Amino acid sequence: MTTNKNDEFHTSKLDCELNSIEYAYALPDALGYDITERFRKYLGSRFININSTEDLPYFGNDEDPILKKKRNILLCLKHSPYLEPCPGTKNYLCCGYKIMSIVEGCHMDCSYCILQGYLNAPMTRVHVNIKDYENALNNAFMSNPDKSYRIGTGELADSLFLDELTGVSERMIHLFSNYNNSIFEIKTKDHRIEHLLNLDHNRRTIISWSLNTPRIINLEERRTSSLKKRLEAAAAAEQAGYKLGFHFDPLIDYSGWEKDYEEVVKRISKQVNPENICWISLGCLRFPPLLWPYIRNRFPSSKLYLGEFIRGLDGKTRYFKTIRTHMYSAMKKWIQEYLGKNVFVYLCMESELEWQNAFDINACTMEKISSCLDNRI
Ligand code: SF4
Repeated sequence: MTTNKNDEFHTSKLDCELNSIEYAYALPDALGYDITERFRKYLGSRFININSTEDLPYFGNDEDPILKKKRNILLCLKHSPYLEPCPGTKNYLCCGYKIMSIVEGCHMDCSYCILQGYLNAPMTRVHVNIKDYENALNNAFMSNPDKSYRIGTGELADSLFLDELTGVSERMIHLFSNYNNSIFEIKTKDHRIEHLLNLDHNRRTIISWSLNTPRIINLEERRTSSLKKRLEAAAAAEQAGYKLGFHFDPLIDYSGWEKDYEEVVKRISKQVNPENICWISLGCLRFPPLLWPYIRNRFPSSKLYLGEFIRGLDGKTRYFKTIRTHMYSAMKKWIQEYLGKNVFVYLCMESELEWQNAFDINACTMEKISSCLDNRI
């Protein structure tokens, strides 16, 4: 099934998301928390108390277990650490990003989503003890005033999934607004950001959109917003004073990609002022081989097969080096042409050699990337 982007989201964001949920299961220690009680209120008979995770249903025999996992929620507590380094990938350069996995799982459904094979969880998890995350952040920021932190909630979820119900972004935006050494990044493919527009963010939050070409969005990204709506939302966020980010990840190689990706960059330039773009990341399609069966079974019309692949140094399937270099250098050229040379562009989980080949930067290290990004905040 391909989502018709013209029909998307006729109802409000929260109604739409709640309608997609079959059941929320609450563990005993999650009871009494605000978030848990809001789920109870909104879901009524679809809210179920359980004694332990052994009481959870098993979806392994279902026609599409991944979809079932997306549609069912486990309300539970997260124990320390609350702030974790981005898992990155072996033998490739990471950018020193930190993640907070308050929600783990996503209602959107992208063919290439690594979470399909990555999350070893019975269903989508919502950690309800947000206060513990807030305490951990306050402690980290106050004890290390000279350190810069870039922290996001969009690594194991779309940052805006159930966001009005959980209040995660609003609380984080408020907390980060008090610190000048840190920045909070919301990463999303959703355009519905109205609930964030009037908050006092003090420019300490970046709202970032993952972008792709309309063709890839239609074929590979079910239940996400169209490119047009994402860019309109970026303009609204800019209007509300937020800094912006864009992530072209994954870049996908197909016949005609050059024209399509160039057009996307051109469309960014028509919608927002490049001065407000904090960073743009690029990452070519890559995934662990165990993802192939999920893609084949769940997305039979996917075009991801069309590329030529190698096994990378981290064991993941990647495009040949020549293809990656070509895609990265072309993207950088278009970004500089349409958005100017001051927009910071970086590669996500790439090799030192790729930084050299595509960007002509020698001896690139995680520390260098990290320091360039920290200087942007
Ligand atoms: S939006 Fe991100 S987290 Fe959600 S399905 Fe797509 S790739 Fe996965």
